[in-house]
Amino acid sequence: MDVILAKHAGYCYGVERALKIAKEAIANCPKPIVTLGPIIHNPQVVNWLEELGIHAVDEISEKQKGTVIIRSHGIDPEIVKKFVSQGLEVIDATCPFVKKAQSRAQQLTKEGYSVVIIGERNHPEVIGILAYAQHKAQVIEKVEDIEKLSEKLTKRLGVVVQTTQSKENLGKIVGELSTKAIELKVFNTICNATQKSQADAKDIARKTDVVLVVGGKNSANTSRLAKICKQINSKTYHIETVKEIKKNMLNGVKRVGITAGASTADWILKDILTYVEDLEI
Ligand code: SF4
Repeated sequence: MDVILAKHAGYCYGVERALKIAKEAIANCPKPIVTLGPIIHNPQVVNWLEELGIHAVDEISEKQKGTVIIRSHGIDPEIVKKFVSQGLEVIDATCPFVKKAQSRAQQLTKEGYSVVIIGERNHPEVIGILAYAQHKAQVIEKVEDIEKLSEKLTKRLGVVVQTTQSKENLGKIVGELSTKAIELKVFNTICNATQKSQADAKDIARKTDVVLVVGGKNSANTSRLAKICKQINSKTYHIETVKEIKKNMLNGVKRVGITAGASTADWILKDILTYVEDLEI
């Protein structure tokens, strides 16, 4: 069976950077070390960090001691101030691309625009960006959401985008917003890694019989890759580990495409690649 592995699959720059920062913290920072929420959206990697002594927690109490790592998705700056004031060492692993989206949202708010964030309302990255827009921005996920918001939007609109959104969704929403606004300022804050991996994923979805998209089920960018591939190739499967591959997924298949989200570890990807290459079908 032929296997095509996407060129841009697996750890992106921001995730590699966050993991490097976390590993350095183990050697250099006061213990215990925690992250508020998983440092990246990949359960297998989070378990591995747990073994190294970095614990993902859902909340941080006023009695917490040691170090808190701000994960790649970023966080409300007021929460960071609170951590500092209670004496915690704060290590910021926010991805620079996320920081760019945060600062653009802050800029648009200061300039008096009605800010629109295109993204998933409950995703931690979007919640963080919203804080930089002083919690005044409107969050929309799809073009149909615009109608519901019309009364809240002024004629001066400023747009930023969750870093892992698709260019197609951005294009559709901006097209519709342009019919509502007199002035429209758009910052395309989709990150380079996302744009490259989505372009690669489309390419392999067209060239193969089955696509395996590897990554956390809670990972926004992996889920988006799976959605993009499925629109092109209905035989697309989103899996986290090799255990989820069933033989009937690959029955009669000549060519398999494999891609992975930005938070998928190399070892998970390698396991899957080896398994599929060794399959005798
Ligand atoms: S997907 Fe993009 S924004 Fe998110 S961590 Fe990776 S490089 Fe940063």
